[in-house]
Amino acid sequence: MNKCLKNEEAEHCAAFSTRIINAGFEKPDVYGAINQPVYRNASFEFPDSETIAAAFQHRADLHTYSRISNPTVANFEKKIKAASGAENVIALASGMAAISNTFWAVTCAGSNIIASPHLFGNTFSFLKSTLSSFGVEVRFVDVDDLQQIAAAIDDNTCAFFAEIITNPHLEVADLPEISKILKNKNIPMIIDTTVIPWCGFDAKKAGIDVEVISTTKYISGGATSIGGAIVDYGIYDWKANQKLGILPKPKGMSRFTFKLRSEIVRNLGACMSPDTAYLQSLGMESLQLRYEQMSRTAYGLALYLSEHPKVVNVNYPKLDCSPYKAVSEKLFKGNPGAMFTISLKSKPDCYKFMDALKIIRRATNLFDNKTLVIHPESTIFGTFPPEIKKFMGVEDNLVRFSVGLEDIEDLKQDINNGLDVI
Ligand SMILES: *Cc1c(COP(=O)(O)O)cnc(C)c1O
Repeated sequence: MNKCLKNEEAEHCAAFSTRIINAGFEKPDVYGAINQPVYRNASFEFPDSETIAAAFQHRADLHTYSRISNPTVANFEKKIKAASGAENVIALASGMAAISNTFWAVTCAGSNIIASPHLFGNTFSFLKSTLSSFGVEVRFVDVDDLQQIAAAIDDNTCAFFAEIITNPHLEVADLPEISKILKNKNIPMIIDTTVIPWCGFDAKKAGIDVEVISTTKYISGGATSIGGAIVDYGIYDWKANQKLGILPKPKGMSRFTFKLRSEIVRNLGACMSPDTAYLQSLGMESLQLRYEQMSRTAYGLALYLSEHPKVVNVNYPKLDCSPYKAVSEKLFKGNPGAMFTISLKSKPDCYKFMDALKIIRRATNLFDNKTLVIHPESTIFGTFPPEIKKFMGVEDNLVRFSVGLEDIEDLKQDINNGLDVI
């Protein structure tokens, strides 16, 4: 038996699977419970006034009120810390809460961020409409063009933002190369890593300073609940940031996490519920197994579809035809996860194909245990004006797959039946 199987020590175990199973829950529980109980209460009582004052003033690591922190949520955050090797983790109510809280923390009126326009629909809308209306400029760049990135940076730039694999295009930016430019200019790299879990890549090696994640996807364990996380690797020195530079540097926390914990997260109130934290802590324990199995099936299906006469194109970074194969191999050891997209001849063909499926479900979401398809142009991006869809490169002949845990032969048969209809 491995000696480091308990509590905090589990965070130092070498293997990902052992860390993710054992980290977090602090023993002993009064009843010897093997999972962290759900502390479904709003408030916590204290023996005396001095202790509650210390808790409120961050002098003692105690829970006061569940909008600020909660033991079940803290357990989930510790598990993520152990799995990622990050310095600090904050769990929130959704992926969008993780993204919005992050940008409320690092930007201010007059500052700008550099971002890829190929983003999750709500993220694009948050940056372009919500954040911009508070005086933050968003400079969209082609992240394959390193010179364009370098040229977009100026004295008011406070972050670079992209998704680790874009959706629905399945592009993979060369983060280590981008990181060189950013380090040179002292700009933090904030990446949405929702579609590749920590066992699939090395965030620090890629140059990532902060990850924002929709834990609804791989982590929740079968689409059990909506959640998000901000993962701070504690590497970037935030002194250079216009807004955070003026803060004192607290012990064991970056200025960024301190700003979030002491102000932004508390004020915006998008906290994760203890029930969600419980479900997702359990879900996370099978993360690696699911990711590896789903990815194997995804590759098998992508390969099969790439040779199918009715399929115009398949986007999956592991395929030989993908321009991102080399960078994907460098970053993800050749395992770029369980999402891919296909192009058919037309939008009506996409609808006909999807409507004929019997096992695969028509639903949004990613990395459910069930395989899902969606037509992004008419759904996720459905309310966007045509010129924005064009700018974001969202085409109407594209179907997105999120591959689940069903048998690959059954999935192939279902897909074949669907393609036979067109
Ligand atoms: C789903 C998703 C989000 C948003 O997460 P929610 O949990 O739905 O708020 C953000 N980014 C990516 C890449 C996603 O797939």
